[in-house]
Formats: sequence, C-alpha cells, structure tokens
Amino acid sequence: MKNALGPQGWWPVSRDAATPAQARLEIVLGAVLTQNTAWENVRRALAALYRARLVDLAALDAINEPHLAEIIRSSGTFRVKARRIKAFVRSVQREFAGSLEALLGLPLPQARAALLRIHGVGPETADAILLYAGRHATFVIDAYTRRVLVRHQLATRRDGYDDLQARFHEKVPANLDVYHEYHALIVELSKRHCRAKARCEGCPLEGFPHDPSA
Ligand code: SF4
Repeated sequence: MKNALGPQGWWPVSRDAATPAQARLEIVLGAVLTQNTAWENVRRALAALYRARLVDLAALDAINEPHLAEIIRSSGTFRVKARRIKAFVRSVQREFAGSLEALLGLPLPQARAALLRIHGVGPETADAILLYAGRHATFVIDAYTRRVLVRHQLATRRDGYDDLQARFHEKVPANLDVYHEYHALIVELSKRHCRAKARCEGCPLEGFPHDPSA
C-alpha cells in the first residue's frame, strides 16, 4: 500500500498548532469531531476553534456548551460533539489536574480504560487518541478497516472491535511508526479504492483474494 499510495505522515495536525501540547489536544478534538463526518468538516471546525482561541483545555473548560456547539457547527451533530468535548475536558481537569499529558502518559491499558470511561469516547476514538496523541502502539479499527478486512475474507461484519484489534496486534508486531502509517494507508486506500462501491482496478490489494461485493 505504501509503495502505491505513498507515505501518509499522519495524524494531519494543522499548522495552527503552536506547541506539541496543542498538537496533542488538536488530535483529541479531531478524533471526537471526526465521528460520522468527513475530514473537511473537521478541518473547518478546528479552524473555528483556533480562531476562537479554544484549542486550550482551560478555555474549553470555561466556555459554555451551547456556545461551543455553535463554533463547531460545521462538524455535524455539533451539539452531541460539544457535549463530548466538554465531558473530555472535564475529565482531564478533574482526574488529571488539567494535564492531558498525565492521562496519555499512563501505561496503555490504564490510559485506554480512562478514556473509555469518558462520555462519548468509544474504542475507535480512544485508540485514535492513544495512537496519534499518546504515541501508544494500539491499532485503530475503523469502518474503513473493517470493510477492507471483510472484502478480503479476513473478518465478518459480526466480528467485534476488540476481536479484530487483537487479531491485528497478533499479526503486526507493535511498532508506533508502522501502526501510524498502516491506519493512515487504510484510510487513503478506502477513499481512493475501497469505497462503498469498490474500485478494485488499480488498487494495491487487487492481487489478494477479495470479494468487492461483500
Ligand atoms: S482490491 Fe477491491 S476489495 Fe480489496 S481493498 Fe481494493 S478496492 Fe477493496
């Protein structure tokens, strides 16, 4: 995939991030904002947050939820996402003394458990945050990954998140750079080829057994 699609260099942090800490918070916000929407909408919501000086935990804690929702309106289901962002920020403020680094610096199982306790953070969002903001080698199983695996008869639609992730971890030794790039390549592959209606011709995985109608 890498030869065909080129290096992806994810996560696509914006140029607005002034410090590594702000970049980490931007990744967290992006991971919440991207739920059920296209990345372009996320990009616009993040730009609005930067304009409002809200890529900052204390500022996000201070702003009221309806106002935050208006600012991230472009991300779709913006009221739900505002509630989730506020819940995330509250949790970091109260449980980790306002330090995202303290949360992300926990060993992987504890950090993942802490994230999963937060309202609106499911396994996919937690793993995206851990992989790209926390630099933990945990693989993200998103809808794109599942579709590619199903079409290549490596999974069924009924397989659970943890099961698919465990299988991936078993086959691909934990390596942060590899996991970063692997997930990004699956996303790119899915945008270019493995769409709702598969475009197998020219796909880098075309030579492997597959059923594009699955
Ligand atoms: S070969 Fe077809 S089914 Fe397989 S990943 Fe590419 S587009 Fe999807």
